[in-house]
Amino acid sequence: MAKIKILPVHEAQKIAAGEVIERPANIVKELIENAIDAGAHHIIVEIKDGGKESISVTDNGSGMDYDDARLCFAKHATSKISSITDLEQISSFGFRGEALASIAAVSNVTLNTKEAHAHEGIQVTVSAGTIIAQKTVACPAGTSIVITDLFYTVPARKKFLKARDTEFRHIQSLLHAFCFAYPNIHFKFISDDAVLYNCPPVTSLIDRYTQLYTHTTATHMLPLIMCKKDSFQITGVISDLTHTRFDRNGIFLFVNKRWIRNQKLSSSTIAGYASTLQPGRFPLACIEVAIDPTEVDINIHPRKEEVQFVHPRSIEQTVQQTVKQTLEVALSERVKQPVYFESPRTFFTPHQPTAASYQSLQHTISTQPKDLEFLNSTPPITPHYQQPIIHTHEQSARLIGQYNKTYLLLEQEDGLFLIDQHAAHERILYEEFATRFDTIPSVALLFPIMVHISKEALELLMPYFALFEQHKIILEPFGNEQLIVQSIPVHLKETSLDDLIHKTIAWIAEYKHLEQTEFSSTLHHHMRAQMACSAAVKAGDELTQEKMEQLLRDLFKTPNRLSCPHGRPTGWLLPLYEIEKKFKRK
Ligand code: ADP
Ligand code: MG
Repeated sequence: MAKIKILPVHEAQKIAAGEVIERPANIVKELIENAIDAGAHHIIVEIKDGGKESISVTDNGSGMDYDDARLCFAKHATSKISSITDLEQISSFGFRGEALASIAAVSNVTLNTKEAHAHEGIQVTVSAGTIIAQKTVACPAGTSIVITDLFYTVPARKKFLKARDTEFRHIQSLLHAFCFAYPNIHFKFISDDAVLYNCPPVTSLIDRYTQLYTHTTATHMLPLIMCKKDSFQITGVISDLTHTRFDRNGIFLFVNKRWIRNQKLSSSTIAGYASTLQPGRFPLACIEVAIDPTEVDINIHPRKEEVQFVHPRSIEQTVQQTVKQTLEVALSERVKQPVYFESPRTFFTPHQPTAASYQSLQHTISTQPKDLEFLNSTPPITPHYQQPIIHTHEQSARLIGQYNKTYLLLEQEDGLFLIDQHAAHERILYEEFATRFDTIPSVALLFPIMVHISKEALELLMPYFALFEQHKIILEPFGNEQLIVQSIPVHLKETSLDDLIHKTIAWIAEYKHLEQTEFSSTLHHHMRAQMACSAAVKAGDELTQEKMEQLLRDLFKTPNRLSCPHGRPTGWLLPLYEIEKKFKRK
């Protein structure tokens, strides 16, 4: 007997609706997209009980005429494309003509709509996909759609709706995304009768942060240095190192103004912070990729939340680079100047400078970052020159000394600059381990070190001995619960390896679910940071003048020098203005 039956149209539609509409936020998204496609510049979203009781979206867009107001609920009813070939150059959000049909199949919908030139509007009421009433009404130009009784036709799906707060958060993130993608549109968001956001148009993304978050958050946002490539361009804003979240939900990514999810791009954004974020902290970011539509497929996800790039790697790398550059530029502006010494006991010229000593100075400088380049041009040599005060430059600094056996104090024209000796040294060593990876010398231990670990930890660790070898640490198992350390890099000579080994075991357990490359870069980062921490001078170590100068000299040729690998700042300026204010001189 034949087993195949053709499902009734209404049943099939309810099933298909599940692909598009899973939760209230999906409805809000479709309705806002329709409003934007209709040219609206004022959109009001109102929800009750996290969207579970009702959702309404009102816009001042083009509105619909009598026929369209009925037709828009039919499946595959769209005014946006007429064939698949149109998709290559699509600029509207919608194109499948299935959102309103899907929403109507699983709820009760009331539509009010009016075109600007029409004398009256039309109201259409739809229940479970069927138009049950229509009438002319007096209403403003634009469209308003109210959804109630969500999923009443599919109780199984209704059961999967989450608590009010969860559904609310999904809608709130969506609102944020639209506000970021469309700063020129006025969005108002009302939840359970309270106006949560009222965001008139703004001219910059940073102003949106003031509207949606706080003024303080906005002051921590940095505009990305714009990066333009042949087929795409990256723009947006990111938070500085001091303003972070405990999850990735503050990272918003857009492709041609569509909010998308893309694990790799969000990892690239985080990677742009190099190792300056503290573990478990994530930035805020709003990154827009404007790309030639033929270089991206927007039709791979039922709710269009994901896209597929033709050349994803190039976009990921560019995002990472752009974020990194933006932070570097912003941070060097904040710290403003590299540091020089006016005292005769300077690092580069203990005696009266000679041409040779300046050549060596220039050599040092040529390996330093861009902000020291100005020194290369004119060596300030004069016959009577006693102290290497730096000319070509409005500001110089003098090392005052060490405070509390922890901070180096530098006198600068615009204030007192404090450097945390441990954080600074950690960064120097971390970068050195990263760049001199292969050339760091190691020593074979005459008396190998024994480390006790549990049997389970040893089993977990054994497949990863190669990770240690890459850092010049040679381990061997000894029995079931011990390790022998046969050789170590010279910089770890004075330190205990117990800590590094036990922490590495914990990191392996924490990160082993990651994909291979990400796992290995995460582990190397943590191991390097831990080695740098063990080998660096500590707070409380008294430093000689030579050591302090060496530290400063090394710091100012180190990349990412503004924070330690764990994200703490290495230096901090107490502005002269603030000091004078305290003494009531200002
Ligand atoms: P799509 O957006 O993919 O075309 P939808 O089901 O979302 O499909 O909408 C169907 C059609 O209804 C749209 O193509 C549009 O012509 C019309 N429409 C929907 N919402 C609005 C609106 N807010 N203002 C004007 N027209 C609308
Ligand atoms: Mg649509």
